[in-house]
Amino acid sequence: MLEVEGKVSTYKRSIPSMSVANLIQMQGALSYLKRVRKKISPTGPMTAEGAEALDGETLETWRARFVKSSRINAVMDVAIRTIFGAEARELSALYFLMYLNAGGGLLSLSEARGGAQQDRFVPGAQAISLALAKELGDAVKLGVPVRKLLQRADGVDAVSDTQTIEGRYAIVTVPPVLAGRIEYEPSVSVGRDQVTQRFAMGAAVKVLLTYERAFWREAGFSGEVVSSDGPLSVVYDNTSHDGRQPALIGFVVGSQARQWSAQPLSDRQRRVTGALKRYFGEEAGAFQEYRELDWGAEPWSRGCPVGGLPPGVLTNSFAHLRKPEGRIHWGGTESATEWIGYMEGAIQSGERAADEVLRRL
Ligand SMILES: Cc1cc2nc3c(=O)[nH]c(=O)nc-3n(C[C@H](O)[C@H](O)[C@H](O)COP(=O)(O)OP(=O)(O)OC[C@H]3O[C@@H](n4cnc5c(N)ncnc54)[C@H](O)[C@@H]3O)c2cc1C
Repeated sequence: MLEVEGKVSTYKRSIPSMSVANLIQMQGALSYLKRVRKKISPTGPMTAEGAEALDGETLETWRARFVKSSRINAVMDVAIRTIFGAEARELSALYFLMYLNAGGGLLSLSEARGGAQQDRFVPGAQAISLALAKELGDAVKLGVPVRKLLQRADGVDAVSDTQTIEGRYAIVTVPPVLAGRIEYEPSVSVGRDQVTQRFAMGAAVKVLLTYERAFWREAGFSGEVVSSDGPLSVVYDNTSHDGRQPALIGFVVGSQARQWSAQPLSDRQRRVTGALKRYFGEEAGAFQEYRELDWGAEPWSRGCPVGGLPPGVLTNSFAHLRKPEGRIHWGGTESATEWIGYMEGAIQSGERAADEVLRRL
């Protein structure tokens, strides 16, 4: 289902139902995006032709030159909010294009079938971390966040509130903005600190409702909703893989997410169920359980799904994002060159940082 400017309609393919004129403009915009993004290499975006100009404006002002329809802008805004947890006016056009290129384009990043949203892990994405941690055994220390990294001539001390762990090198894989909250002795370079100051985390609240029956399936709907009106920008069917627990999941993202938790729970529930009733009827109000997670309130994430850049950083201090500082190397999905912002990017960046250290051992 698609909800734009107060109107709800249904669609079957990847591009939502629109007038012929809007469809032509949408296809034109997607083709143009593809042509331009292919010139922005995620390994060196600052050297691309026209990089300075693209990094000198926001995605919103840049897009206004080739997308005129308010309806298309609204649909694109939903995709941008969902992918970045940010508004088009907050992001550098160059950063957006680099990000798109790293993940195969706007549709690849936002679609379910054939796109980044297609698969789920059973019993959940954390199963990967748990399995890796099991292999590593006692080497994994939980509940001891690193407060300070102290570089010595022959090693690095990772200092937490209760213990200090010594190593020859350190790889920091937390989001840049959190890396900037760690104390470094000696200080990291000005360029490195500047880039971490600018990498604002996206804002997103995940909302899950469980039901006795998957009434939307019975009515012939997939459960997918794309809404410019909100509060849920996207909704998916999140029924358990064995079909036993029907559920819908939705995301409040971007500006709306920043204000979300300040509202009383009863208001939040009323707004969420109000939206779901518009799409799937009165039954959507009769949920079994209602759960929310505001990722901005998570102290070790401070936002989700990724840190994004405003104008003027990619062409300036971005080179410091992957550049080692003495014995400290940097990973994390924001520093990836493939699938930035996704788990795949986190793995790619981790392998790159591990290679850097291995070459020094
Ligand atoms: C709601 C949501 C949905 C998402 N959906 C998808 C999806 O469908 N597909 C996909 O590929 N990606 C998805 N992502 C993005 C994906 O989760 C990230 O790309 C990925 O987790 C990034 O991995 P990372 O290792 O770079 O950073 P993180 O996963 O943020 O890992 C950093 C770790 O460091 C820890 N940490 C923080 N500070 C410190 C400190 N000072 N000392 C020690 N440890 C610290 C944190 O607790 C955390 O465990 C989603 C993210 C969210 C929030």
